[in-house]
Amino acid sequence: MAKRVLGVGAHPDDLEWYAGATLARLAREGAEITLVICTDGGKGSYAANTDTRQLATQRAVEQRAAANALGAQETVFLGYADGELEANAELKKRLTELYRTYRPELLLAFDPWKRYELHPDHIAAGRAALDARLAAKMPLYYPDWRDRHIDAWAICELWLFNADEPNHWVDVSATLEAQQRALALHRSQTTVWDNAARAWIETTARENGQRIGVQFAEAFRRIVIEGALVVAEGTKL
Ligand SMILES: [Zn+2]
Repeated sequence: MAKRVLGVGAHPDDLEWYAGATLARLAREGAEITLVICTDGGKGSYAANTDTRQLATQRAVEQRAAANALGAQETVFLGYADGELEANAELKKRLTELYRTYRPELLLAFDPWKRYELHPDHIAAGRAALDARLAAKMPLYYPDWRDRHIDAWAICELWLFNADEPNHWVDVSATLEAQQRALALHRSQTTVWDNAARAWIETTARENGQRIGVQFAEAFRRIVIEGALVVAEGTKL
């Protein structure tokens, strides 16, 4: 089992929404979990008179509480403007530094190849998260960091959530409830997702559970990298 896990989300509540029950399970099994939230979530309201800055501040508080509920150790906010995230050199460099610092064995990120994904921040966060993985393991990226003793780090396992073609299901029967509790802590989002949305999460988890014969599951695209090789789907590890 991975000892150190890092999740990259675009907005506060993404990681809870798409992978919250899995993160809660990993935490219960003893993993050290770091959440990285790329944007400030400042546009996450349908009320036109919302103060964006105030909302962003509130959402950071909510995110910390939700991370706590999942059992995550730390939350890192990158603070980019909601809705304007780009998988640019700066974002990739910041993520690379985080990977090399926290040294996760398992990375959870958006699947940037998800067809018909309508939120550009989700695509950008996934793209940057995966590109930074490559930069993190290749020592010739950011050679100036050598003086700061930030050594290269290879993340060997990826679980992409919101996956276009899932190939890995995690039994979350014991932690779906923790996910729902964490989601409820994002109080500013109750107009965005409501009881119907929660019911949708449960229905989806039940359908995913049927794939592997358990009550509830979350679905991922799992990619394992061994040395320079990407292990083909279906290979026994
Ligand atoms: Zn989102």
